[in-house]
Amino acid sequence: MVTELLATSTTTASSITDTDWAEFAAELRPTKTFHGLGDGVVREGARLIRKGDADYETARQVWNAMHQRYPLAIVEAAGAADVVATVNFAREHDLPITPRCGGHSIPGLSTVDDGIILDLSRMRAIQIDPVRKTARVEGGALLGELDHESQAFGLATVGGQISNTGVAGLTLNGGWGWLARRFGYTVDNLISAQVVTADGRLLNASKDENPDLFWGLRGGGGNFGVVTLFEFQLFEVGPLVYGGQISWPIEKAIDLLKFYREWGPRQVEELTTEVIAWHTEEEDGSLSDQAVISMSLCFSGDPKDLDDALAELLAFSPDDMVVEAEWLPYAVLQTQYDEFLRHGFNTYYKYGVLDDLSDEFLETAFNGWLTKKSNHTFMTLGYWGGAMSRAGDDVPFPRNKEPWRAVTEIRWEEAHERDENVQWAHDYWSSIEGYFSTKNQYLNFTGDLGEDLVRDAYGRSVYERLREVKRTYDPQNLFRMNQNIVP
Ligand SMILES: Cc1cc2nc3c(=O)[nH]c(=O)nc-3n(C[C@H](O)[C@H](O)[C@H](O)COP(=O)(O)OP(=O)(O)OC[C@H]3O[C@@H](n4cnc5c(N)ncnc54)[C@H](O)[C@@H]3O)c2cc1C
Repeated sequence: MVTELLATSTTTASSITDTDWAEFAAELRPTKTFHGLGDGVVREGARLIRKGDADYETARQVWNAMHQRYPLAIVEAAGAADVVATVNFAREHDLPITPRCGGHSIPGLSTVDDGIILDLSRMRAIQIDPVRKTARVEGGALLGELDHESQAFGLATVGGQISNTGVAGLTLNGGWGWLARRFGYTVDNLISAQVVTADGRLLNASKDENPDLFWGLRGGGGNFGVVTLFEFQLFEVGPLVYGGQISWPIEKAIDLLKFYREWGPRQVEELTTEVIAWHTEEEDGSLSDQAVISMSLCFSGDPKDLDDALAELLAFSPDDMVVEAEWLPYAVLQTQYDEFLRHGFNTYYKYGVLDDLSDEFLETAFNGWLTKKSNHTFMTLGYWGGAMSRAGDDVPFPRNKEPWRAVTEIRWEEAHERDENVQWAHDYWSSIEGYFSTKNQYLNFTGDLGEDLVRDAYGRSVYERLREVKRTYDPQNLFRMNQNIVP
């Protein structure tokens, strides 16, 4: 179920005086003209936006319109000092606080009632080291910005599939994308981080410094503090990759899924694919009444290997196939679904993993999807595996051995459509969840919350180790707007 988080606080809005707020605001980086080189240039500082301020309505919104919450304030931090000041203010006033990077949290974790949203969108600097092949990325940067900077040097790290997802939220709970079959999850490629912890310290975390914190960050989400800086390993990628989608009439869906079951595991690791059953958008933005079944793909290998990589797929029902795939810059491919998954929809996700796919599962999953309440709702089935399944460093992120991922994104436009869509999602999911191999969830991809769900996601022993790290760095659970590890 969608459980509303109880981010309760003993403080009420009225118990924080205007003087308290004014003193806090005075600690934040000012917007002013600094005299020095570049005289006369006004430097943007932090912004404190309180309930009632002109920009409040816009500033409190997150990607998923289903989550309408009313924070006391939104702080747009301009640097680590602002992050420290905000964390201290929240702790001293017993206010729930949540960092916000891209605002893409599906259960709406980057917004909070009667607390503080610590918005990092002014902290988006990125530095690439093309020799060491690393990137230093501030805690508010978006994936598309990281791709842009690194692709200028023919490099990339593993991100997600949408360019305006936040680097921070995606990384801290795993992070998969088109390159993950080659290079593992985003967390597998995290080298170090700087974190503001609940007591207001700025700590380095790496294998050598605060290694317990570094371990926790690689899968433990936003539980241990606010990450102000990430350092990632980069790889040579593209800049051109072959990507897009190949579609067939929806009547071919079951045949395509059965074909994929055989072919998916034989794909080279440079190729990543997902089947999508969906209604695509027309040029005017309206949804087509007619659903299609598509294979979405990205091939990032040597161009001379493309024909072999796709030969079997292109032999599947060629007469009614529509190919909308081409060689294009990797950074452009990363924007292909941005508009389709734009801000402002109401969205709820369900997720499951499988060892293998029976006929019965494929038919039940697909035929069930056809009964959806909204044509915005789509289902995907992906064969992941590759480097994602191989043992890497000891990290808390649950590295499933099951290679198949089924995700249904339940989406609707108007708030009043919520109940029927969420109910449909639960009925649909109960018809297929018996086929899944484990209760283990990908915490970035579930619309649900709750301690049992989090414990099941990590497994008991990893969860208990995460609790130890939580007790060390956030014993009072100041950071609880997340897939929470209860200290
Ligand atoms: C359209 C869309 C596409 C997606 N595609 C993918 C995909 O391809 N691959 C994938 O793996 N996932 C994907 N996701 C899921 C995504 O990884 C998660 O929703 C993730 O939380 C988004 O990160 P964010 O920074 O935008 O989140 P936000 O909503 O900004 O933050 C979510 C939570 O992350 C934590 N957090 C954020 N910033 C910080 C910080 N600086 N320090 C500490 N904690 C922080 C906090 O707990 C916060 O509550 C997608 C989600 C959406 C909505």
